Amino acid sequence: MKTIIEPFRIKSVEPIYFNTKEQRTEILQNACYNPFLIHANEVLIDLLTDSGTSAMSSNQWAGIMQGDESYAGSSSFFRFEKTIQELTGMPLVIPTHQGRAAEKILFSILGGKGKYFVSNTLFDTTRANIEYSGAEGVDLVCEEGKHPSIPAPFKGNMDVLALKKFIAEKGAANIPLCIITVTNNSGGGQPVSMQNIREVKAVCKANQIPLFIDACRFAENAYFIKLREEGYADRSVPDIVHELFSYAEGCTMSAKKDAFANIGGFLAMRDEALAQQCRNLLIMTEGFPTYGGLAGRDLEAIAIGLTEVMDEHYLQYRIRSIEYISNKLIAAGVPVMQPAGGHAIYIDAKAFLPHIPVEQYPGQALVGALYVHGGIRGVEIGSLMFGKYDEQHKLVPAKLELVRLAIPRRVYTQSHIDYVSEVIIEVFEERKKIKGLIITEEAPMLRHFTAKLKPIE
Ligand SMILES: *Cc1c(COP(=O)(O)O)cnc(C)c1O
Repeated sequence: MKTIIEPFRIKSVEPIYFNTKEQRTEILQNACYNPFLIHANEVLIDLLTDSGTSAMSSNQWAGIMQGDESYAGSSSFFRFEKTIQELTGMPLVIPTHQGRAAEKILFSILGGKGKYFVSNTLFDTTRANIEYSGAEGVDLVCEEGKHPSIPAPFKGNMDVLALKKFIAEKGAANIPLCIITVTNNSGGGQPVSMQNIREVKAVCKANQIPLFIDACRFAENAYFIKLREEGYADRSVPDIVHELFSYAEGCTMSAKKDAFANIGGFLAMRDEALAQQCRNLLIMTEGFPTYGGLAGRDLEAIAIGLTEVMDEHYLQYRIRSIEYISNKLIAAGVPVMQPAGGHAIYIDAKAFLPHIPVEQYPGQALVGALYVHGGIRGVEIGSLMFGKYDEQHKLVPAKLELVRLAIPRRVYTQSHIDYVSEVIIEVFEERKKIKGLIITEEAPMLRHFTAKLKPIE
């Protein structure tokens, strides 16, 4: 088999800013060992997130110029609406400024005290919006999904037995919605199988619980189904996507992911009464229903991106490039989550830095080392992000200490990716020199964004 090439050529380029190891050591120190406090132009390869960081196509940029900025009835809205109707089979489409705005609207209506929202795994903004309404979010991911180093094809699946048990325990009347996140972002970008969606749907239907899809990475998930699930190898991606959405009553979407847009999102659904309630809230917080917090030009870019993302040459390149870096790291003995997900690689920092105890934030220490050594910016997903304190102010660590390197869509080439794996492997060879960190300043909530740290000498 020949090399899988980037299915695009480059018309417009952005410079990367180079700096030296000595400069980066000082920059990291000034940023108090927190990558969120580093200026973007001091980063060589930015793998902080795949959200809103995609490269748009020449077609999308052309669409930007054609955006119709009319307040009501913009032709860009009708293009956006038609694209999403065809993609999802859902007739009612509501634009929002990003995914969390769609969530805020939906859970303001369906949430409230005493209610439970069940999911394979809720993304953090989804959970936050559920909890803000007074309801509870419940993650019921399958057993394979709980073990980072054990490979399985669909580690994002929901545990169907656990779902049945949970419904029996709490009562279907207290569960306004079941949400399947594709791919499972918080669970490592792992896909959900069509069979699992079908089984979850059957349970939901029997209990009259509507099923919604958190659809941020629907195309990546569909491609994994094509690659890994029996009976789908010869089906087209749009066809698989259509089947996936056919089981759901609605969806929320961040267009900053699988729509190659820099901003945007939407809600889509089948129920007219619910859509009317959503539109009423939309007008208060986002805008009139034909623009919903977006410019007409954004609606154009999203509509075009949603079509482009289902191109199989693109998806093959996308999934393969994540697998490629993952394989290189595995061959060098670097502990990573297996198999590779759809949008990021996850390094197991506890196994990478066994000499650093969790109280000294091995994930954050590794993030710092990758930046100093090669100018790569990743993010800690461990005890700095999810750790809590007990009554004695002792750290209650997160379940896992991971470092996520998320790959922006269509932005970096294979040589960038080769460089990233070289840097990680070099840092791995010198891992004993890396020191743990202590926190010197932190906020009471979401502390990882602003925390200040320093190394333990
Ligand atoms: C990014 C994301 C969201 C939230 O979308 P924003 O556009 O960032 O508000 C929700 N769910 C999942 C799975 C995501 O990845």
